[in-house]
Amino acid sequence: MTIYNFAAGPATLPDSVIKQIQDELPSINGSGMSIMEISHRSALFDNIINTAEQDVRDLMHVPENYHVLFFQGGGTGQFAAIPMNLATNHKRIALLDSGHWASRAGDEATNLGYQVDVLASTKDQHYQELPHYDEPISSNQYDYLHITTNNTIEGTAYHKIPQHGDVTLVGDLSSNFMAEEYNVKDFGLIFGGVQKNLGPAGVTLVIVRDDLVKPVKHIPSILNYNLFVKKNSMFNTPPVFNIYATGLVLKWLKDQGGIAEIEKRNKQKASLLYDFLDDSKLFANHIKESDRSLTNIPFTTGDEDLDKQAIQATAEAGLMNLKGHRSVGGLRASLYNAMPLEGVQALVDCLHNFEKQH
Ligand code: PMP
Repeated sequence: MTIYNFAAGPATLPDSVIKQIQDELPSINGSGMSIMEISHRSALFDNIINTAEQDVRDLMHVPENYHVLFFQGGGTGQFAAIPMNLATNHKRIALLDSGHWASRAGDEATNLGYQVDVLASTKDQHYQELPHYDEPISSNQYDYLHITTNNTIEGTAYHKIPQHGDVTLVGDLSSNFMAEEYNVKDFGLIFGGVQKNLGPAGVTLVIVRDDLVKPVKHIPSILNYNLFVKKNSMFNTPPVFNIYATGLVLKWLKDQGGIAEIEKRNKQKASLLYDFLDDSKLFANHIKESDRSLTNIPFTTGDEDLDKQAIQATAEAGLMNLKGHRSVGGLRASLYNAMPLEGVQALVDCLHNFEKQH
């Protein structure tokens, strides 16, 4: 039985990448040493990290005046790093509260002593649509505006980036990084852990405009952008294996035709599932149509017990990790870059059969 993994992250990776890692694990580049054993100061790793950076630049058309940095600590680490590095003028941040992770980012900044103004929230709508704020926002008032491009738990996404005057825009791309095309120039900074679309957990990608990187005092070195720029992301020992594996996924993505092509496939995959759900008399997705995510699709029968049975039925068919997040319940299918169309078709077939029996 073919197993398809619909987990929200860490998540499915391309089979060919897993195979390549397996083949190369005992000896990287004929060195007789494993990638897990080599120094981050070696020429070999230098080449790996520089190539990964260049591939990020090529794939996302990153302008020259942006830095591509590799951190540890996940998106959560960046919830702290971003205010500490960027909110140096007003110590005041604007936020669009589109869900759990946007709210967590706000909480972390608040904990650290920054003022966080929630300009709009769809909490009262159970985050089933995106919040919008139509006024211009000034950099005289706020250091930046934080948005979450894709809301992993709730299943919404900004497919068009909202424009808000001259304020610096910060985007949490954790769950749709390189799954759909965005213009890096629309943002001052974008970030996300790679463990959903781009690699194994352990690497956090940050792309930041040069003028936002300043010497900042009294913050942890491990979260200091200026230091990481100066040290080419090797201020301390970086996660060597994880950066290597991420590099392989980036190469795979290039081989697939890049982000434009993968977005086309992601749309096809998402439509297949949404079309089924919209026609179904048993299952439904409750997200406002224009705000639906390509990568995370929650759905439910509306009956907790029946949802449980459906999760059981999918697991028996080799369709794994479809349980919805505990705060939403129901089921959730995460259709990241490495999920093939066949996997989504298998899911739809299984749900269709389940529906016939219930
Ligand atoms: N932001 C979003 C949108 C996420 O989905 C997640 C993790 N699921 C995070 C932030 C937190 O990231 P991490 O687990 O890498 O700290």
